Amino acid sequence: MAKNTSTKNTAEWNYAASPESTSHIRLEKKYQLFINNEWVSPSSKKYFPSTNPASEEVLAEIAWANDVDVDKAVKAARKAYQEVWSKLSGAERGKYIYRIARMMQERAREFAVIESLDCGKPIRESRDVDVPLACNHFFYYAGWADKLEYAMPHKKPEALGVAGQIIPWNFPLLMAAWKIAPALAAGNTVVLKPAETTSLTALKLAEIIKDSGLPPGVVNIVTGYGDTGAAIVNHPDIDKIAFTGSTNVGKIIQRAIAGTHKKSTLELGGKSANIIFDDAPIDQAVEGIVNGIFFNQGHVCCAGSRLFVQENIAERVIHKLKSRMESLYVGDPLDKNTDIGAINSKEQLETIEKYIRIGKEEGAEIYQSQCAIPSKGYFCRPTLFTGVSQSHVIAQEEIFGPVLTIQTFRTVDEVIQKANNTPYGLAAGVWTDKGSRIFNLTTKLRAGVVWANTYNKFDPVSPFGGYKESGFGREGGVHGLGAYLK
Ligand code: ADP
Repeated sequence: MAKNTSTKNTAEWNYAASPESTSHIRLEKKYQLFINNEWVSPSSKKYFPSTNPASEEVLAEIAWANDVDVDKAVKAARKAYQEVWSKLSGAERGKYIYRIARMMQERAREFAVIESLDCGKPIRESRDVDVPLACNHFFYYAGWADKLEYAMPHKKPEALGVAGQIIPWNFPLLMAAWKIAPALAAGNTVVLKPAETTSLTALKLAEIIKDSGLPPGVVNIVTGYGDTGAAIVNHPDIDKIAFTGSTNVGKIIQRAIAGTHKKSTLELGGKSANIIFDDAPIDQAVEGIVNGIFFNQGHVCCAGSRLFVQENIAERVIHKLKSRMESLYVGDPLDKNTDIGAINSKEQLETIEKYIRIGKEEGAEIYQSQCAIPSKGYFCRPTLFTGVSQSHVIAQEEIFGPVLTIQTFRTVDEVIQKANNTPYGLAAGVWTDKGSRIFNLTTKLRAGVVWANTYNKFDPVSPFGGYKESGFGREGGVHGLGAYLK
């Protein structure tokens, strides 16, 4: 049985370790590129390790694709598009997508465990959120494949061709599903690159794609670093780039494809506001704040990383928040009790620690949960800062970790102005008893998604995407389909 590395500060009691078994998963020592439904070794012969961020152990060696490999993948995707996929009816395409969803569902446990091992997120998240949502995306878009003319009334929807898709490490399987499912439903073929630290579930998905009988070349998965991503972006025979990742790389991509025929959707960073009014159900709101920033290690682009509390309840909310933070388990991602798993990589942990130092130097007051954290692996205690002003770096820049800044406000106008004072605009949360206030704020907050009295709720039916430097284009729902159609 795996050792429980979860820790808790409360001296009187503790949960017994409850680690998920890894005996049912099978990982290869070495993973090749998935091109034309075959496992192909990279032309450079180079491989890189994928490590478990909770133990620092190498899980597998992953092929590193270069321009030649990407060209092979794009050629396979083009051939599959011209000769097979564009000739199939929507109903036939839908059957394949549905079959992939069913096969993923059958192997849900395996996906969840591998996601937690490779990414560091708690098994509770990968098992209850990532994997079911990823399956649901395939189910949902399978249903659209033969109904495109209803999705785009009075138009004759046509696929774009070959889609190049580049995804990040925070929701590896879910992001692959967000990208692949609508692309296939709309009749495109795909070359997808997972993030370098989290390739494994995309490669497992490739096994399912092969077993599902999807025609060769319809989905190709090439692994590697930023240079592999750049080779996809710069390939002349790609018709569309779908990217989720940092705003910096998003800007590089936008510059690279400017003046070309390539269409794009970019889902970039965020610094989302979570706003609590004095009439909100406070305990529910505190739980929503914790869910919005601490669960999943704050590795969510739409994490509610800026909290705005109405001044007259600030003391109460901060007190409740601190005591809830003390009850959070930080530790082994495979333990079912764990709330906060491992930070995905050493580099990301260093970035988070750098921002915590900056916050202190800027004069904000820090509070960190007292819990012990495992000595091995990359872990960070849940952290909050009070005494933060709008100009502080920690209130402006995306930290991508379990770090919350707290500011107060008195009036609605003031909080709208403060919440919108950011280069980003991905999401926001509003906690209040008044429906009219919710409607007022949803029209004035410059954010792609606004949650009311909840946070971080996703559904394949509802579109997701940003304003301003958080990107453009929408994924999910009918809107997500439109992004892959002429
Ligand atoms: P994060 O900061 O979330 O890791 P990145 O934007 O660095 O986000 O990475 C997101 C994805 O973009 C990863 O798959 C990464 O390999 C890829 N990537 C990084 N640099 C480039 C680039 N110049 N062109 C295309 N893709 C890139």
